[in-house]
Amino acid sequence: MKGKLYPKLLLLYACFCILSFATVSTVTMSLTRKYETKKVADSLYQDANRIAAGPLIQSYMKSRSSLEDVYSLFLSAAAYQNSTLWLMDKDGNILFSTSKPLSSTGEIEPLPGFDPSQLADSYYQVGDFFGYFPHQVLSVLAPITLNYDIKGYIAIHCYLFKIDRECNTVLNISYITLAIILLLSLSLVAGFHFWVYRPLSRLTLAARFYASGDLDYEFCPDSKGDFSHLGTSLQYMAETLRRGKEDQRKFISNISHDFRSPLTSIKGYLEAILDGTIPKDLQDRYLHIVVAETERLNKLTKELLTLNTFDEKGYFMEMQNFDINQVIKKTAETFEVACIAKAIRFSIIFDEPSLMVYADMTKIQQVLYNLIDNAIKFSRSNSTIIIETNQKHEKVFVSIKDTGIGIPQDSIHRIWDRFYKTDLSRGKDKKGTGLGLAITKEIIQAHGENINVVSTEGVGSTFTFSLQKSKN
Ligand code: ADP
Repeated sequence: MKGKLYPKLLLLYACFCILSFATVSTVTMSLTRKYETKKVADSLYQDANRIAAGPLIQSYMKSRSSLEDVYSLFLSAAAYQNSTLWLMDKDGNILFSTSKPLSSTGEIEPLPGFDPSQLADSYYQVGDFFGYFPHQVLSVLAPITLNYDIKGYIAIHCYLFKIDRECNTVLNISYITLAIILLLSLSLVAGFHFWVYRPLSRLTLAARFYASGDLDYEFCPDSKGDFSHLGTSLQYMAETLRRGKEDQRKFISNISHDFRSPLTSIKGYLEAILDGTIPKDLQDRYLHIVVAETERLNKLTKELLTLNTFDEKGYFMEMQNFDINQVIKKTAETFEVACIAKAIRFSIIFDEPSLMVYADMTKIQQVLYNLIDNAIKFSRSNSTIIIETNQKHEKVFVSIKDTGIGIPQDSIHRIWDRFYKTDLSRGKDKKGTGLGLAITKEIIQAHGENINVVSTEGVGSTFTFSLQKSKN
């Protein structure tokens, strides 16, 4: 972002400044000129009418005053207004002009193109006044009437530079005001820098570090501001990625450990058999240990593959309606030998003789297998495991309760983690992989259901999971 957003913003700001000045020098100038012209014209027109209706002109029209008297009145008015006054007869001849001395011979100056009707629409005109002036002037024309009859005209002409001077003054004030506004608007650029550019730069930098794999980059999002939410999300994402990386590292070290220990013992026993350290009559016993270890490796590989299918979210659920009671019975029967060995009994309590659920039967069978297997493994000899089904609204709840070693309170939330085994169980179950409950949870969650455990150390554990009741 650096080097792109800023120049763009500055370019935009420069364009804005240029356009603002251009607008002031064209639009403002033209409006001011119009306004000033009208203002001066109004004043001149009022003066012209006042003189035309004044007693001196009226008495001159009645031939009671001399042209000299009128001329001197016009001279004072012209000096006051800084303009040129004409007295004209009704045919458009100039009797005198204050810009010239009064003719002693009574000579008049004709204005051939004079047509007062051209001024009918407006009381003033900017131009050469019927071709008289070589340049543009502002002119007003007021009729002199006597007994409702036009006897002549008073024309007042004013040079436009007077108006231009006024316009320039207004324009200079506008330029100064605009410059102050533009300087103040620089605060917007500063605001953009602090509230948009800076937080965005920090976010971009952090995102760049994370994208390049540097998840240790310390990024502290602003607690306030519009980007705080984005910053917190980015921080959360980095934290999740970091945790994922750490989990992956732990996972690989756990796998390596779990594969290495059986492989080491297999290698050790086989080498001892080959080099004769283990005598022939004991070989049979050690070969059985080797077979047990390979079985454990086989189980571990199978469970890892199962978990992997869940990780890829590529698992395929074969949902169907089936009787959960039947599946429980069948699964429990597979543990007959293990139960006899430990003198463990099953007490199976069904809510109803038949309870139809909608789920993936093979996967639920695996869940039951894992939970019953754990219950037997961690139960004391000569105890009872209670398997129970209950239904509530649209759900069926299956629980497996043992009176075994239980789970310590501080480990209870970790038993669902891959490879996790409680300290209590480690000595009792050497074959366990710590993957069974992780698989169980994945399967139940894939059904959109829940699994929970209630356990007391030394008293026993109850695992309960829910299933969707069959609709038909
Ligand atoms: P494992 O193959 O080791 O049994 P699991 O994932 O099934 O792996 O179980 C993880 C750990 O949870 C076990 O090692 C044990 O410590 C604890 N656990 C599971 N079920 C029970 C139970 N019914 N009673 C006591 N501890 C249990």
